[in-house]
Formats: sequence, C-alpha cells, structure tokens
Amino acid sequence: MIDITTLTIATAHTHLINKDFFARDLAEAYLAEIKKTNGDINAYLEIYDDVLAQADNADKIIASGTATLLTGIPIALKDNLLITGKHVTSASKILEGYVAPYDATVVDKLKKEHVVFLGRTNMDEFAMGGSTENSAFGVTKNPLDMTRVAGGSSGGSAAVVAMNGALGALGSDTGGSVREPATFCGVVGLKPTYGGVSRHGLMAMGSSLDVIGPITKTVTDAEILFNAIKGQDMFDSTTYPDGQYPQNTNKKLVIGVPYHILEQEGIDQSVRDNFTESIKKLEQLGYEIQDISLPNIGYSLAVYYILMPAEVSSNLARFDGIKYGLHVDGDNLLQDYLKTRAQGFGPEVRRRILIGTYVLSAGYHDAYYNKAILLRQKISDEFAHAFQKVDAIVTPTTPTPSFKIGEKAHDPLSMYLADIFTVPANIVGIPAISIPSGMVTYEGSTLPVGLQIMAPHAHESVLFEISKKFLGE
Ligand code: GLN
Repeated sequence: MIDITTLTIATAHTHLINKDFFARDLAEAYLAEIKKTNGDINAYLEIYDDVLAQADNADKIIASGTATLLTGIPIALKDNLLITGKHVTSASKILEGYVAPYDATVVDKLKKEHVVFLGRTNMDEFAMGGSTENSAFGVTKNPLDMTRVAGGSSGGSAAVVAMNGALGALGSDTGGSVREPATFCGVVGLKPTYGGVSRHGLMAMGSSLDVIGPITKTVTDAEILFNAIKGQDMFDSTTYPDGQYPQNTNKKLVIGVPYHILEQEGIDQSVRDNFTESIKKLEQLGYEIQDISLPNIGYSLAVYYILMPAEVSSNLARFDGIKYGLHVDGDNLLQDYLKTRAQGFGPEVRRRILIGTYVLSAGYHDAYYNKAILLRQKISDEFAHAFQKVDAIVTPTTPTPSFKIGEKAHDPLSMYLADIFTVPANIVGIPAISIPSGMVTYEGSTLPVGLQIMAPHAHESVLFEISKKFLGE
C-alpha cells in the first residue's frame, strides 16, 4: 500500500526511481482517494479518462532511465488551462462543451516530463473570486473543515492537494488566487514573477496581472514545478529569458515588515498574533528584520479593482456565442450576443464586465483607469525603493483564516477585502509565496493561516530559501 498522505513530489520521485512502486500504482492510489472524497469536496470538475494510460507511458520512461523529477507524478490542472482534446470551461456555463484545441505552454512543458494529469479543478468563474463560490458548478469545500470555503479562485487546485487528491496542482493568480486558497487549505502556493511563466493557453482574466503558479505540500515541490514551467516562450511576449534567476548568496538576508499595513481594518487578531510569532521565528533563524514603509500600499485594492475589471471587460469580449462554447439563438446577431452572454456568464463576471466598461468609458477613464495606472506606478516605485534596503518583504497572506460557505457570497466588497495582502504583488509584478505558518483558533475552529513572502522581480530563489528555512525543509 502506498501511503499518499505523507508523500511529496520529491519523495514519490525517489520511490518511482527505486521501483518501490510504479507510476500506475501511484495513479491508482490517487484515483481511489479521489473517488472516496471528491463527491463531498467537489474539488475536481472532471477526472480524465486516460489517467492510467498516461501512467503506463510514464512507467516506460522511468524504465528507460530517462525520467525527470516529475515523470509519473500525478498533477491537477485548474479549469482555465488548455490541454488538447479535453473539456475546459473556466467553471463557466458559457464554455460548456468547449474542447481545447492546443496545449497551454505549461501543459506542453509538463507533458514533456511525462507527468500524469489527473483532471481539471473547480474555480471561481473565469478566476473571479476568492472562495470558488462563483463557480457555475457548485462550491469547493475546504477539506480541513467542510463548512468552510477552500478559497479561490484556485480553490479546487488547493483542495485537491490538501485532500491527497494530487501531489501538486497548477493554479492562476491575478490578485491572490494561488496564495489565498493555499493558505485556507494549509498548503504552499507560489505566484511567480509576472512573465516568469508563459500565459499562453491560460484563459485571460487580467493580462497585466495573470500568472500561473504551483500549489503543493512543500516548498521543495513548488520549486520543482516552478522550474519545470518557467521560461521564455515565443507565444507570450511578456515572458523573459531563463538565466535571470539569481542564485542564493550566502549573505545574511534582510526581511522588511511593513508593520503599518497591519493597522488596516478587518485583520483578525489570530492572524496578527500568528504573524508576530512568524517574525520572531524569522529572527531566530538569523534574519535581520527591518520595519519598512510602503505609503501607498493601502490603495492597492482600489487600484486592482479598477485595472482588473477593465482588462476583464476587454478579455471576455471574445465570448460572443459564435467562437466558443454556448450559443443562444436570438432574432439577429446582436441578440445572439446579448442572450448568450446574459445566460452564459454568472453575476460576478457580469458585475466586473460592467465595472470595467464603465472605468474605460470616454467620460470616466481619466477619473478612474488613468488614475489607477498612475498609482500602480507609484506603488511599484515604493516597492523598488524598499527592495534597495531589504531582500524580502513579509505580510500575512490573508486577513482571516477560511470563512464559512455563504458568509461573504452576497457581499462582494467584503469578499474583495480578503485580497488586501495579496494584490500588491500582482500590481507590481513581483514573485510571492504563501507558506503555512501554523494553526489558529478562529470562530471556535482550528484553521491554518499563511505567511506571505515577496521578493524583487525574478528572485524566486530568495522565496524558496527563506520558506524552506522557515518550514525546516
Ligand atoms: N480574489 C481576487 C479576485 O476576485 C483574485 C482573483 C485571482 O487571483 N484570479 O479578483
């Protein structure tokens, strides 16, 4: 019997190479576990029908002695990543029946390593949300407490890792969608540098913010997946060449803490206390802690919730009922568009398209969109200034642990506040990781919280170094 509860990508790889078990055994163990738990948790929207065939193929590669760290490793994909010949919907009714005609670059790279793709995971529709409650296919429950959300928008990807339904998963992060669900489910989530990983084949939400990132049990595993998916890609002109990832230096790293942002409203005391403990731990590990100031970081949420919907309104214009998925017949072409979009998109997606269209409209773009662009630059400058003095910046990942299913579903503004610590990294484009920093008591439940570490552009290595030390990996 394979004990999948203790397995990581790194240890499973060793077992596969040592022939302790085959990739087929591993895939079967995961399929059995998914069968047991997915009905309740609703983390997978679909399990692929060729999982065992993929595993058999991986076994051949392992037998031939050409396996990589990821060969035969069972991985899940967020339902906004294209994989040839498979359904992919972004958890939206508007893409029901749509079949991907090509592989996303990240999928292509993982296919070359012969990972075993188990299936596609639930998410907030088109990645808009922080709880997976905006999925057209039902909420994903938190495997650690089934009355609570798994987070979002990559809630399914975080839940499958936490429930031992995959050894790792890919998510996408536009404002926190890898880090927030990872925190709520007690696992590791990495948002790489903008442009560090190709977005080709990722359904676009906010193109200047989107990045694909791994969700795993350990930092080592996140690093393995990141190394496999990163790199320049001719299909995404915003990617940058390999070799720009600075290696660890042996100098004593300085960690900046913008203590002033903890004064914002809505941060639970359990999160503050846990964060204080984390800072103590970092000090004990030998890091120098410096109080830093990011004067305009408080405007990040406002900036994000103007720029992101603006980009959403433009990106989602392509779903017109003609090119992809759902088609609803009207009396004429315009009615086809209107009816398809009204029936196909859920309320949160429609809300953001409306906001985005508004902030870009002729009468208002100076007042909203252009102001937000200016503030984005200002916040970026403040981070650049801070990084002249410190090597990394830490904050909590979320203001509270996971909340109850339904608690914020009808109050979009309170849902948006969950992104308060995560959106700055997307606005600035820097890499950020969320690692489990312990369990806290919240509303009578024991729940995980996370520590977020941010570093300058392309300095993922700094995140891995600090995180591994923190977790004792
Ligand atoms: N929760 C944020 C939002 O609703 C982030 C989403 C994301 O990163 N995809 O926009």
